[in-house]
Formats: sequence, C-alpha cells, structure tokens
Amino acid sequence: MTKRVYVAGHKGMVGSALVRNLTTQPDVEIISRTRSEVDLTDQSAVRSFFSKEKIDHVYHAAAKVGGIYANNTYPADFIYENLMVECNVLQAAFEAGVEKLVLLGSSCIYPKFAPQPIPESALLTSELEPTNEPYAIAKIAGIKLCESYNRQHGVDYRSVMPTNLYGPNDNFHPMNSHVIPAMMLRFHKAKLDDARQVVVWGSGKPMREFLHVDDMAAATLFVMGLSRSAYQQATEERLSHLNIGTGEDCTIRELAYTMAEVVGFEGEIVFDSSKPDGTPRKLLDVSKINSLGWQASYSLVEGLSHTYGWLSKNEQILR
Ligand code: GDP
Repeated sequence: MTKRVYVAGHKGMVGSALVRNLTTQPDVEIISRTRSEVDLTDQSAVRSFFSKEKIDHVYHAAAKVGGIYANNTYPADFIYENLMVECNVLQAAFEAGVEKLVLLGSSCIYPKFAPQPIPESALLTSELEPTNEPYAIAKIAGIKLCESYNRQHGVDYRSVMPTNLYGPNDNFHPMNSHVIPAMMLRFHKAKLDDARQVVVWGSGKPMREFLHVDDMAAATLFVMGLSRSAYQQATEERLSHLNIGTGEDCTIRELAYTMAEVVGFEGEIVFDSSKPDGTPRKLLDVSKINSLGWQASYSLVEGLSHTYGWLSKNEQILR
C-alpha cells in the first residue's frame, strides 16, 4: 500500500537528497510544504497540517544549520528555532498517529573531547564544543524527544546523527556555511579570478569526516526500513540514535589540497590561524550502521567532484 511520506525541510540539502531518493522508491507519495505554507516554528500551523494530511512516515530534516561562524554569531536563533521545530513536529506527528519518524541530527551532539572514533554511547558524557553548543543542545533534545515518545507512548521514532555533510543544494554562503561549500566557492572564484592565494580558516590541523548527502539520504532510508527489533538491538534497547558517516577523516589541510585539485586552483593556500579551529577532531564510530549492512559509497574526491559539477551548473541559484 502507498505510504504518505512527509519530508520536513525538503528544500534543504538533506531534505532535497531524501526527496531525490524517495522518488525512486515504489509505493511512496511524498508530502512537502514550504516555510510559507507551513511554518514549523508555529505550533498550531504544524498541528493543523498533520491532522489533515494522514501521514504515515516522517523524515525530519528541517533545521536551522550553519558553520562555525554562524553558530557563534546567532546562538539564540540556532537553539530557539531547532527546539521549536522538533517539539512541534514530534508532538503533532504523535497526535496524528504517525507510525514512524526519523529525525536528522548532527555529530556536534558529542562532547568536545569524546573518544575517537566517537561511539553513540559518548552522548552526554562531558562538555560540548562551545562554538556550537546551543545547536547541539537542541539536537540532543531531539534525540531525547524521540526516546521519550517511544518510552511513554510506544511509537517508533528514530534518530540518525550524520557526520559533516556536503553536496548539491548545500548553503554556499561565504561566511555562514560549513567548510566544504565555503572552501569550494572560494577556490572556484580564485580560479576564475586567476588569484594567487586562497585563505583557509584556522590552523589546518583539525580533523573532520565528510559524508556526501546522497549517502546520507540512502542511510536514512535504510534506518527507516530497519525492523523495530533490529533498531532496538543496535541502539542497545534505548531506541536512541545511530551514527552515520564514512568512518574516515582527514585534516582541513588535506581537504584544502584535495579541494584545490578538484577545482583546478593552482595558486598558494594560506592558513589564517586567527580564525577558530573548533573541535580538534570529529570522527564517528560507524560500526553499528555498518554491521546492520549500510556503508557509504562516495570517496571524498568523488563526492567533491560530483558537488563541484553541481556548483558549476548552479552558480546562479546558490543559497
Ligand atoms: P565544524 O565542523 O562544526 O567545526 O564546522 P565547519 O565546517 O564550519 O568548520 C570545520 C573546520 O574547517 C574548522 O576547523 C574551520 O576553522 C575550518 N575551515 C577552514 N576554512 C573554512 C571556511 O572557509 N569556512 C568554514 N566554515 N570553516 C572553515
């Protein structure tokens, strides 16, 4: 029977990748709404949407996201909007009898000095990275909302925590975006302008793991499709969250040199240590999702090349 599947945040990078993937699935009717149609921070609008739409499954990919600079500059927006949206969607979904939901989070939920690679069990074991703590607290609340609704109401709401994502429809804002889109655009412009130098923020030493968003979409559908008992077993009975990543990381310096190669920039790369490094390393332990049978398919070079191909064709519509 056809399932009515709501993708919250379908215009974003992750939401649009989910829609691309879901359109290839049989027996799925995709439901989506723009912010002007249903403002997810507005409780009564969300409630009325869910009560009318008879939704079976929800992918909750709506979030206010941004890089290190945006998180540092707009902390109130990050915590307020993300908490509101999660509370409104979860409660309205529950009231409307939604069977299954997967909430998308982020690896910044983990402590700044978590063991590497970071296992799911590192959640709430020590202090967070201060540059994105408000956002992280909202995402931790999202996991706990799912867990709590499962415990109290016996529903099946799951959470997936991706590592740093990139790909088509990313936010390419020069200041507010994450490192890959920011760097890609800067290298691209430098190539077009024949510039001699490109500046990369920080020392170049922090290590990050990067996952192409199409891999993330595939993993999210995979998690939605797991049986309740498989998910329960993998999350050690707590029906909590699963990490999603490649299992491999690199330094920001390595990323910069790979980026230069992909984009075709031949000038000098300079590291600006006056900009923050953020957390020193963030590699997820992905052994649980791997042992359930899912693995990332894009290598970093393939993923960057694919994204650069998209950027080159879509420069006019960049966010
Ligand atoms: P984070 O993973 O939450 O720290 O988020 P980011 O993607 O914003 O930053 C990752 C790392 O890349 C940090 O060490 C940044 O200092 C570094 N970085 C280097 N150049 C840039 C840039 O142009 N933009 C951003 N956002 N980060 C950069």
